[in-house]
Formats: sequence, C-alpha cells, structure tokens
Amino acid sequence: MCGAETTNHSTESNGFGGNLSLIDLDPGNPTVFEPYWRRMGDKCRVVIPGCELMSYKAATKPGKVCWFLLPELEDAIVRLHRLVGNAVVDDRYIVVGTGSTQLYQAALYALSNPASLKPINVVSAAPYYSCYPEETDYLCSRLYKWAGDANEYNANKSGPFIEVVNSPNNPNGSLRESVVKDCGQGKLIHDLAYYWPQFMPINRPADHDLMYFTFSKCTGHAGSRIGWALVKDREVAIKMTKYIELNSIGVSKDSQFRTAKIMELLCNEHKEFGLNSSNNFFEYGNRLMAQRWESLREAIGSSDLFSVPSFERQYCFFLGRPTKPYPAFAWLKCNEETEDCGSLLRRYNILGRNGKRFGADAKYLRISMLSSDDVFEDFLDRLNAIRLFEE
Ligand code: PMP
Repeated sequence: MCGAETTNHSTESNGFGGNLSLIDLDPGNPTVFEPYWRRMGDKCRVVIPGCELMSYKAATKPGKVCWFLLPELEDAIVRLHRLVGNAVVDDRYIVVGTGSTQLYQAALYALSNPASLKPINVVSAAPYYSCYPEETDYLCSRLYKWAGDANEYNANKSGPFIEVVNSPNNPNGSLRESVVKDCGQGKLIHDLAYYWPQFMPINRPADHDLMYFTFSKCTGHAGSRIGWALVKDREVAIKMTKYIELNSIGVSKDSQFRTAKIMELLCNEHKEFGLNSSNNFFEYGNRLMAQRWESLREAIGSSDLFSVPSFERQYCFFLGRPTKPYPAFAWLKCNEETEDCGSLLRRYNILGRNGKRFGADAKYLRISMLSSDDVFEDFLDRLNAIRLFEE
C-alpha cells in the first residue's frame, strides 16, 4: 500500500515498562464505517451469475468517452452527486478508475505533452498527500516529474506545471485552492477524496476542469478500488481513458456493479428516511466523526505535549445544519521540545506517518481517524497515559 512502509515495530523503553500492542494509525484504512454496513445487512448484497459482466467492454450510452464505464455506475455517480450537492455533474465526462490512484496517473498522462523536450513539473502545496511524490516519480517518466511544494514554485522561472489541489487536504484537513501564480502555464488536478458530508461541510458543488473522487473515502469501500473523475474537456477525458485502457484494459465490472448498488442504497435510504435517521449514511458518518474528534480533543485536553488544528463551524447544505470539518486524519503537532513526534509516539507503540513525508516537519505526525472503534479507543487510552507519563 502506498506509504505503508515497513517500520521497526519493537517497543522502545517507555513509561509503561512492558510490551504494548501495536496501534497502527499510519495508513488511512477506512474501517470506521464497517458497523454501518454491517447494520445494512443484505440490503446491498450483490449476486453476479457466472455468465454476466464477462466482456471487457460496457454497454455505454452513445456519446460517452469511457468505454468501460458501466451505465449503472454512471447513473449512480450522477444521482449521488446531485443528492449530496458536492460536485457539478452536468456537461462532464465521467472516467472510472481502479481507485483514484489510477486516475491521478491517468490525469498526469492526459495533461502532459509527449512532444515536450522536458517533463512537466508536478507540484502540490505542502503539507501534501504523501503518495503524490512517489506516484509521480515511480516510473521515472519523461512526461512529468515531481517538483515539490507548490508554495515555492515560480512559474516564471521554472515554466509549465501541473498543480494538484487536494481539498479538504490530506493530511491537515484544510480547504484549499490552487496557490501557484501561473501566468497561464498551469494545469490543475483537483483531488476531492474527502469532500463528503461526514468529513467536511458541503458549501457548494465543486466545479473544476478535472476533479476526482474515490469510493474508498466516500463510503469506506477501499477494497473495491473504484474512483471516478469528472472532466470538462473531451480530449482530456479521451486521453485518461486511453491511459486506463493501456494500463489495465478498463476497470473491474464486478467492482463497478457493486459500487453502483451501494451508491443506490445511499440515495434510496436518503429518499425513504431523510436525514433524521441513523440509516442516512452521511448523517451517521458526520456524527461518528464528530464524536471521534471530540474524544481526541478531550484526550489531548489542555496538554502542552500535542495540539491539533481547530476548525470553524460552517453551514452544510446537504445536512441542512452548521457542522465543523471532521477530517479523516489528525495532523498532530508536538511541542517545541519534541523534535520528532513520530519517535515519541513510537515509544508507546503507536504508529503514525511522519510529517516529513508530506513535505513538512518531523514535529508533525499524521494519525488516521478512520480506524475501527476498538483501535481508536486503545489509541485514546494510550494518549491519556502518555500525558500522565510525559508531562
Ligand atoms: N487521494 C487522497 C488525498 C487520498 O487520501 C487517497 C487515499 N489515501 C487517495 C487519493 C487514493 O485513494 P484510492 O486509490 O483508494 O481511491
């Protein structure tokens, strides 16, 4: 898994004096929503007879670019965005990918120019999602190359570029816009993985040239490996489709079918029960994330060991009420005396992802807020204990 680097899991000496079980909050594996899906039981069970979904191709509607996108999934994506109000879907081409990870690479391919003598620079404002640099440079492409922090990028000096804008941002939860002063030379990719009501108040439908979402964070079904891009320009959508054709000859129909079924369920439950029901996934998810953030803030309390960003309440048009952002990750900052936040927590066998991986400082550590309940509760207990021992 991107960034799930091997770590030395041995317990160093700590105030507890004994062996502590490992609490791994490094990857953002979204198991937090499992209880909801367990409660839904058979409602989105999928049965696929052996003779179905065998073709590489999908029976796409006329005029569509992405020839492997199941019409059922296309309809479900459009319906879900219209319901949630988080993205403009009219006059957009939809390209499905094996996770948004594949769409990121397809977008880089589509936005770069094979005739150019030099690879185009790819930047994102620090702290940026730690996988962007790795994914950009992994194949040593001559089309594009990672060029670091967008805040430091000078387009006049360094020329054309692609800026990736991740909003709300992984790791620190901030809402973002592009930062490079571009003189018309820049192209933008909007990664909107976390622009869903459980994580962020929906204040307007996103309306960008190339934006993508992922099923992994929308509902927690990361194992299905489904992402989708909403693309304004037909040529860009054609190139992205070509990339996926060459890379994997399309995207699993089984997964697309299951995704469509689950998205339909979200919309149907909303239609039937409205917002005032624990069956409403986004309402449920928002309340769950709110509780987690409240418990985390309580555990950190008035400690001068750690801090996390604070967020303003905003009106969410989907939930019909004000709500704070409840990001999928806590961007934990250690105090001035602690140079490496990761080593401090590792002494207590808690793993997070080091701030340096995000183009930031080792004073920061990214902690997943998406673990299962028992792991999250262990984490809070251990955080409380660390405060007692270290303060
Ligand atoms: N973008 C961001 C900001 C992410 O956090 C992630 C998952 N951690 C991805 C993209 C990739 O998600 P997937 O490939 O599962 O769609």
